[in-house]
Amino acid sequence: MSNSKVALVTGGSRGIGLAIARALGSSGFRLALSGRRGEHEVAPQLEELRAAATEVLYVCSDVGDSEARRDLVGRVRREMGALHVLVNNAGMAPRVRADLLEATEDSFWEVLRTNLAGPYFLTQHCANWMLEQQQADPGWAGCIVNISSMSAVVASVNRGEYCLSKSALSMATKLWATRLGHHGIPVYEVRPGIIRTDMTAAVEDLYSELLQSGLTIDQRWGTPEDVATAVATLVGGQIPYSTGQVVWVDGGLTVQRL
Ligand code: NDP
Repeated sequence: MSNSKVALVTGGSRGIGLAIARALGSSGFRLALSGRRGEHEVAPQLEELRAAATEVLYVCSDVGDSEARRDLVGRVRREMGALHVLVNNAGMAPRVRADLLEATEDSFWEVLRTNLAGPYFLTQHCANWMLEQQQADPGWAGCIVNISSMSAVVASVNRGEYCLSKSALSMATKLWATRLGHHGIPVYEVRPGIIRTDMTAAVEDLYSELLQSGLTIDQRWGTPEDVATAVATLVGGQIPYSTGQVVWVDGGLTVQRL
């Protein structure tokens, strides 16, 4: 087993998560990735990452499922032997963008389970293991990054459950930053705006129009690499003394203008 550090990236085989995996892999991390798809479905992505000389473990695991979360951390523990960085990236939009007056409770709980309970309790498992590692080796160092969304503060009435999940994830970042602060484990939130991925493919035309008409200051789609750069910078310790903080990657969308 190599000596390099281990990063667990949920939803690490496509979109923003894949870009984060590439960035951390290229800075020397061994990678543990999870996702809903079976391993054979993500084989090309795993092959690409391994070709870049990175050890990669893939675990098919629903982040919204309690037992699956425990199993995921167990697999990483058995097969990688260590954990230094957790990136809570996996997330979903509601299957149907329904107005607040019509949205269903099923969708509410599915989105909350995936986007909030998932990262919150996965952090609990990983944090306990991180503290254990730190006790065994005082030189151990790590951090946690939550990928939230501008929807943590921007209201969209056709996906209320998504907005709620992300605003609560924002508080989860503050809670975990506070709890782990005494142990020197920083917890950060990265808050993307409009990023071109499979998640936004269904609204590509609408968002392209909004971007062209000046929704953001940088008049372009955000890329997964924009977000990955922010994550790699935080993980690399280049923004010290900043635990609990939010890094916006939104092209200036939330800058109030007149
Ligand atoms: P994608 O839909 O492209 O990818 C989502 C990833 O999350 C996939 O790898 C998927 O797994 C995984 N995932 C989804 N649900 C689960 C689950 N229940 N269990 C395990 N893995 C799951 O989305 P993005 O890359 O765009 O989004 C990544 C994160 O960034 C999300 O948290 C999203 O909310 C957030 N975000 C995205 C923005 C955007 O504009 N795209 C803007 C702001 C925030 P699989 O590949 O197996 O399907």
